[in-house]
Amino acid sequence: MNSSLNAARRSRELAEAGDLVVDVLVVGLGATGAGAALDAASRGLSVTAIDAHDLAFGTSRWSSKMIHGGLRYLARGQVRVAHESAVERGLLLRHTAPHLVRAQPYLLPLTPAVSGGQAATVMTGYRLGDGLRMAARTPRRLLPGPARISAGRALSLAAPLSPNGLRGALLSWDGRLVDDARLVVALARTAASRGARILTRCRALELAGDGARVRDELTGSTFAIRARTVVNATGVWAAQLDPDIRMRPSRGTHLVLRPETLPGLRAGLHVPIPGESNRFALVLPQPDGRVYVGLTDEPVEGPVPDVPQAPEEDVAFLLDVLNSVLGVPLGRQDVAGTYAGLRPLLAAGGRTADLSRQHALLTSGSGVVTVVGGKLTTYRRMAEDAVDRVVALGRLGAGGSRTARLPLVGAGAVLEAGAVPGAGAVPEARAVREVGAVPDRLRARYGSEAGAVRALMAEDPALAEPLPTGITRAELVWAVRHEGALDVDDLLDRRTRIGLVPEDRAAALPAARAALAY
Ligand SMILES: Cc1cc2nc3c(=O)[nH]c(=O)nc-3n(C[C@H](O)[C@H](O)[C@H](O)COP(=O)(O)OP(=O)(O)OC[C@H]3O[C@@H](n4cnc5c(N)ncnc54)[C@H](O)[C@@H]3O)c2cc1C
Repeated sequence: MNSSLNAARRSRELAEAGDLVVDVLVVGLGATGAGAALDAASRGLSVTAIDAHDLAFGTSRWSSKMIHGGLRYLARGQVRVAHESAVERGLLLRHTAPHLVRAQPYLLPLTPAVSGGQAATVMTGYRLGDGLRMAARTPRRLLPGPARISAGRALSLAAPLSPNGLRGALLSWDGRLVDDARLVVALARTAASRGARILTRCRALELAGDGARVRDELTGSTFAIRARTVVNATGVWAAQLDPDIRMRPSRGTHLVLRPETLPGLRAGLHVPIPGESNRFALVLPQPDGRVYVGLTDEPVEGPVPDVPQAPEEDVAFLLDVLNSVLGVPLGRQDVAGTYAGLRPLLAAGGRTADLSRQHALLTSGSGVVTVVGGKLTTYRRMAEDAVDRVVALGRLGAGGSRTARLPLVGAGAVLEAGAVPGAGAVPEARAVREVGAVPDRLRARYGSEAGAVRALMAEDPALAEPLPTGITRAELVWAVRHEGALDVDDLLDRRTRIGLVPEDRAAALPAARAALAY
């Protein structure tokens, strides 16, 4: 079946949705829900998956975009969770999304604030992380090992570092998504290609083990979706649909810097947080040239907002930590945008929560299976576990998960097989190189579909016009035709991330409106 999502397909499938009884209803289309829809559909089950807003509307678009190797779990002695993370990272890099996940180098600058003992401890951790990579059978050509490098080399990879007292840096590698929202779109489209009905703007008002009462948020009409089993994958909102669940969200804030703010930054940074022995802020250069700086971790009380806001105290804290390693400090005026996300953490004491695994499956009295917690990196495993549970509960007679080797939409032709050229170079260096007529920038976002996006520009050269962050009008048209974008917010805030900088968003708004009418 076709993987294209658009308004016409939504209308058609919405009209059918009330008349069917599907094997699995998935509620929530973040990474977890979209992953569950794909897992179930690829086992041959009939699936309807709904989201109250859009694909990747929730926490999944507010991440640091890292595909973790599990080092932090190892540090806490959770060897099995760490191994699971490293295995999932390897699957994404090698099989399922090699077009969306790349190796990212990070430097930990050895400033006077980092003692020799601290540096040695961190390096031991990096080596253990490299051991996890090996245990997960991810080849070193995809993810090079750690190294200590000289101050000169550190400055060549990260020119904005202060040279004063710099003894060198620790270089390490981990996975990084080109964009977290794009992973969710790819999951949802791959599920659609296996027959799943993907319905955005459909809110579950009430859930039971045999379906949901749903409101079409575009018309206000309500209807029932009947299902043999139900997965609640609504993340930080999960408790709104199952009152027995207790969430304890924690806010993570990132700063967004424009490309020219830290010139010569070719690697990410791990910046030690002053006064803490094993906590680091992250400086994350993005493929579009912007740089994100994160990450806070603050418990949040009260109602869960649709879109969390970054408070000024988080911004000031992150700027202070960043400035502790820069030659020329940044000010508040250098921060072009901010974003915050809520970690979907479960309060302890859940019914059948298995918190040691970092994600939990909870089955309500009526048989709704909630899958919550975890992280983007392990979405596939969370989805597999949730679908295993509903297959057993509903006696659905499906086999095991098939997603470990199932390439996502676009994974067909990968950037010359993703090998990174050793610890010396950085992947971004290749971003400007052209492969045939299709720029690498398009290949990194669209994989095997890049040629088709490029073809739109050949048909109508006006579509080649770049918008802020280098996104072209053709990509907006593509998002409307194939990626389920229904309005300007979908286009600017999720199919592209132009909207992370308010002025860029305002500049691109007319193009987004034009793409919807194209
Ligand atoms: C700041 C931050 C940084 C992070 N960085 C990383 C990282 O670098 N790497 C990593 O691996 N993990 C990271 N994580 C963790 C990761 O982002 C989350 O664990 C993951 O995205 C959760 O996905 P989800 O699909 O479970 O939830 P969500 O993405 O929140 O999806 C839930 C969906 O449910 C929908 N919904 C809610 N209520 C309803 C309803 N009634 N009816 C229908 N739909 C509904 C919402 O619209 C939403 O789209 C980070 C988390 C945070 C907060």
